[in-house]
Amino acid sequence: MNSPTIYFDYAATTPLDAEILEAYPQLLLKYFANSSSSHALGAFTESLQERARRQIADQFHVDPQEIIFTSGASEANNLAIKGTAFAYRKRGHQLITSEIEHPSVRNTFLQLEKEFGFQVTYLPVDEQGIVNLEALREALSNDTILVSIMAVNNEVGSIQPLKAIADITKMLAPNAFLHTDATQAIGKVNCDFESYDLVSMSAHKIYGLKGSGMLLKRSRVQPLSLISGGSQEFSYRAGTSNWPANVMLAKALRLAEERFEQDVSIARKVWTILYEGLASRDDILVNSNPSGSPFILNFSLKKYKASVVVQALEEAKIYVSTVSACGSHAGALSHVIQAMFHDVARSEESIRLSWGRGIDESATRTFLNIFFNILTQIRSQR
Ligand code: PMP
Repeated sequence: MNSPTIYFDYAATTPLDAEILEAYPQLLLKYFANSSSSHALGAFTESLQERARRQIADQFHVDPQEIIFTSGASEANNLAIKGTAFAYRKRGHQLITSEIEHPSVRNTFLQLEKEFGFQVTYLPVDEQGIVNLEALREALSNDTILVSIMAVNNEVGSIQPLKAIADITKMLAPNAFLHTDATQAIGKVNCDFESYDLVSMSAHKIYGLKGSGMLLKRSRVQPLSLISGGSQEFSYRAGTSNWPANVMLAKALRLAEERFEQDVSIARKVWTILYEGLASRDDILVNSNPSGSPFILNFSLKKYKASVVVQALEEAKIYVSTVSACGSHAGALSHVIQAMFHDVARSEESIRLSWGRGIDESATRTFLNIFFNILTQIRSQR
């Protein structure tokens, strides 16, 4: 039997939206000028990019100068965190983040700690994957210059209390800047970024292009530029603008907003079907929580090797993820599951399912059937 491909790895990357797939090559075919060139062709491509910047700024209720286009969320995170730490190092040396951040945040903080002498506090999380606010209160001091906590976790989908984090920070360390990595939140979870100085996002998690993203950077914070050169992106990020990608980012963000209600409503149904199917089994431990993102469900296998199960799923053309794509390598342990449950076996055998447009209730039921058959088969071969 020829089974259909089922892609359950949207948190790693999404397929391209049909509108973007159509519009992008049109742009490339028609225009090519460097948007920094002073002639009319350059002025035109610049006008396309600046219109896109204005649209994004309007969507987030900020000024166009507060949108910095980047190559994705990893770069946005680096600019936000390193840039702020370097620019404000005379003000203080303490930085605060959580134990469950994406590698592009986690490794940036590790570098600042190990190579540049900053003092970094990694806040613990509870079994729901939510940061401990008491630990935040204790960690904040006059020396704190930056607090960076992700909006939605990419492995388990936990949603952080951004408003409470901001309120506590403003009260106890009014000079500290606030950053959030919102890569898994945009188009998926309603978040209030009002008090945040820096917000990172990526196009390829919202059906846009890979290698495209942005840092929303309020004018009250001025991070040090990490890429010196020309004056593109208000001198925060030099280099010839990838204006076609930036125009497509505006489109992807607009589509994400327009389709938000529908996307979330279908995703919730998928989450519930998966949860009911998986949580009822005694050989599975569900690591995600119903209060988290409706687009991600993470679980651990109690009696099977995740790598064996993932391989069998792949043979059935079903694609899921073990530890996040950016951090995955053989024998990896999920630092997120470990921080939540302090259980090495559970952290080694976790599987993440993530979905979006194109995955409906029927595909989900098909997935569960095939998955449970695979578990039965593996058990019978022992
Ligand atoms: N942060 C989070 C939470 C992510 O899930 C990802 C993508 N895996 C990134 C940052 C990195 O995004 P990009 O691929 O655009 O650099």
